[in-house]
Amino acid sequence: MRKPGRHFLQIPGPTNVPDRILRAMDLPTMDHRSPAFGELGRRVLDGMQSVFRTREPVYIYPASGTGAWEAALVNTLSPGDRVLMFETGQFATLWKSMAARLGLDAVFIQGDWRAGADPQAIESQLREDRNHDIKAVCVVHNETSTGCVTQIPEIRKALDAAGHPALLMVDTISSLASIDYRHDEWGVDVTVGGSQKGLMLPPGLSFNAVSAKAREAAKTAQLPRSFWSWEEMDGPNATGYFPYTPATNLLYGLAEAVDMLHEEGLDAVFARHARHGEATRKAVAAWGLEVLCQEPRHYSGSLTAVMMPQGHSADAFRKVVADTFDMSLGNGLGKVSDKVFRIGHLGDFNDLMLAGTLSGIEMGLQLAGVPHQQGGVQAALNHLAETPQNSVGDV
Ligand code: PLP
Repeated sequence: MRKPGRHFLQIPGPTNVPDRILRAMDLPTMDHRSPAFGELGRRVLDGMQSVFRTREPVYIYPASGTGAWEAALVNTLSPGDRVLMFETGQFATLWKSMAARLGLDAVFIQGDWRAGADPQAIESQLREDRNHDIKAVCVVHNETSTGCVTQIPEIRKALDAAGHPALLMVDTISSLASIDYRHDEWGVDVTVGGSQKGLMLPPGLSFNAVSAKAREAAKTAQLPRSFWSWEEMDGPNATGYFPYTPATNLLYGLAEAVDMLHEEGLDAVFARHARHGEATRKAVAAWGLEVLCQEPRHYSGSLTAVMMPQGHSADAFRKVVADTFDMSLGNGLGKVSDKVFRIGHLGDFNDLMLAGTLSGIEMGLQLAGVPHQQGGVQAALNHLAETPQNSVGDV
């Protein structure tokens, strides 16, 4: 049946792809060995350094984010190496399972999925590790299953305070280009990113930003790698080429996305996301519902996970919203399956899109018979009206 108007894609990624990016990708596929491709390749490789806020190399894979997780591990570690990970939610859990499947000794610090990673817990594990068996600490910056953000500078400080030489690896798949992130300044060794969230692209590209220390570790790391090998990329990347057929048309889109982010200004992009997060939480509070994240310092600008009242199914509610208003909301994952729904407010998104999203939720709560108070949309609108925001552009 035809559904008039535009679908509301309010899952926390993939996000809405702006028309400007769709147009930029709508070109004949080019010869990936041609001189013109080399220019595009260098443009996106340099452009992604500015988004990761790094002067170090960035590697671009024609793969989903999971591939870039694997790349981070297999380039730097050897079979049996111990890695310390923190259970912030479902994505931290999946990355840990991957580490175990790759033959690493993955140690998990348990978490309750209601806050970001705890730097004190990480520091005390590192202090106990007197032989420096732990080779890497891996954390998820913005845990997409919970809407909790780990404070990466605090994790860096934990490693430094313990005097521990482990590599620091950070997953920014749902924070890159939406929540402030600084690969170099924060002393991160490998940052993992993906195309389908803050970068406003379709799924299909993922990234590693890599420090000199991580590249040094790659020289002796023994995990088998071929497709993911940074070393194989270095030669061709120097002139903008790849060791295999790159995802050419997604790279056209990536070049456009980087331009768009700088036209708005990265800091303005982060402020816009933070403001939409705040407005969304005001709506949730006015509905009398609870956000999953319990630590205000860890609130996410990318998404908000909302807890359902006892005895109500989040999936049944999401179905009512999808069927009635043609809007997709994120489902609860893993431990919080059917207990939360997630509102994505990241990527190419503005005040009126947020107003529409929250309206659909408020009407859906009523239709689905979920106990709540009205007035959430109004609370969010008030916040938006009180905090106008302009883009500033990067110089
Ligand atoms: N890490 C985080 C934080 C994510 O949100 C996701 C996907 O949503 C992934 C990793 C996995 O990425 P992908 O599904 O692109 O393989």
